[in-house]
Amino acid sequence: MKYDVVIVGAGPAGLFASNELAGRGLNVLVIEKGKDVEQRTENEIMSGVGGAGTYSDGTVNLRPDIGGNLSEFTKGEEEAWSLVNKVSEILTKHGMPLPAEKDTEKEEELKRKAASIGSRFYPIIQSHIGSDKAPAVIASLKNELVEKGIEFSIETEVADLIVEGNSCVGVKISDGKTIESEKILVAPGRIGIDWVEHLTSRHPIDSTFAPIDIGVRVEVPSIVMDPVINVNRDPKFHLYPKRYDDFVRTFCTNHQGFVVKESYKGFIGVNGHSRKDIQTENTNFAFLVKTHLTEPIEDTTRYGRAIAQLATTIGGGKPILQRLDDLIAGRRSTDSRIARSPITPTLKDYTPGDISMALPQRTMVNIIEGLEMLDEIIPGVNSSTLLYAPEIKYYAKRLKVNDNLETTVKNLYVAGDGAGLSHDIVNAAATGLLAGRGIVQS
Ligand SMILES: Cc1cc2nc3c(=O)[nH]c(=O)nc-3n(C[C@H](O)[C@H](O)[C@H](O)COP(=O)(O)OP(=O)(O)OC[C@H]3O[C@@H](n4cnc5c(N)ncnc54)[C@H](O)[C@@H]3O)c2cc1C
Repeated sequence: MKYDVVIVGAGPAGLFASNELAGRGLNVLVIEKGKDVEQRTENEIMSGVGGAGTYSDGTVNLRPDIGGNLSEFTKGEEEAWSLVNKVSEILTKHGMPLPAEKDTEKEEELKRKAASIGSRFYPIIQSHIGSDKAPAVIASLKNELVEKGIEFSIETEVADLIVEGNSCVGVKISDGKTIESEKILVAPGRIGIDWVEHLTSRHPIDSTFAPIDIGVRVEVPSIVMDPVINVNRDPKFHLYPKRYDDFVRTFCTNHQGFVVKESYKGFIGVNGHSRKDIQTENTNFAFLVKTHLTEPIEDTTRYGRAIAQLATTIGGGKPILQRLDDLIAGRRSTDSRIARSPITPTLKDYTPGDISMALPQRTMVNIIEGLEMLDEIIPGVNSSTLLYAPEIKYYAKRLKVNDNLETTVKNLYVAGDGAGLSHDIVNAAATGLLAGRGIVQS
């Protein structure tokens, strides 16, 4: 059987593209290598129906310019915002809580404090689903898609695309089977970065390297973050520490949450999540330094991976944990130093050590100076502070796309994090909607 559309990946991008295509009389097949949402366990963070968003913190940032820049793919900011509103509407229908009320006065105060040290605070309308509730939202969306006739092939991995001339005509499954389709949408998320790279080396799909974010996961007593969290659950501060004038930002804050270890092929990383049912006394957030490479070496993904591998080696296969005080004093952390710390790490599987042996010196300076700056906005954030490394967001290569999110290979569309078009749930879902529309229109 030949499908009208095959979608690779059932993360937010793939599911929202399916939502856009459902009910139009098209034969649509979604292929997902991970498990179905009900069968997934919390250890299967990156893969399965719902994608990486399913066991994420589920903080939904309702802005087009935080987890990417949607306006790059739309005819202006208005269309970008309308896509965000559509994502919000669909998620709300399937159980996302309404965004929290905003405290405009406190927001203004944070903006003022940030501006006074030359940084910016971005107020965001946010909803917090929570990693424990997100699977139910995904299951509800997926069930509706099935009712509308979208077919799913779960625990099935796409190995390659079938490209004839300059047109994509189907996909090759890892067991050797082939599936023909008029149009193919590739939305494989961060876990699919290597695979996308493989595709760009085999087929005439144009791409460029994107900057990566290198940094640490910061963990502080939750009480320190309370005043800011009361304004915004996932507060976004953008800073330019003086020494290098590099762009540093806070990202993915998990109030009273947990730091988690992420495993990739050959290296590990850290991330964070929070639960509605179990709360800790700590808050964690990523503190990331944007890193570009220029000619002759532009492969930021390889660079990021090399750093992650070095950190993995130094940590003996576990994330490195260091007290900020130890880092500033130029000594490694030890179990006994961490035990003396007033804050207890929420991640237990770590190696106490010295992060500066793994991350580049420029990154470390940015982190130390950046935390000093942040302390002027959030007093206490650089006192009883724990740092976990590596936290690296090595984004996918940015695939070259037209207005319909079609690549340089005809009938091959892309969406979401795996194609380098987004970095968060809302932007991934919105690019899914755009690709769905593009498929219908072209
Ligand atoms: C721990 C963690 C916490 C996060 N917290 C937040 C948060 O609070 N808020 C937020 O906005 N974002 C968060 N994010 C990011 C967010 O989850 C992603 O930006 C979003 O899920 C990207 O959507 P996507 O559809 O592009 O890709 P993904 O969600 O990664 O989905 C891609 C899917 O494609 C499948 N796939 C890949 N390759 C193949 C193949 N060859 N064949 C078949 N299937 C394939 C994968 O198994 C996966 O299920 C978090 C991410 C992580 C890892």
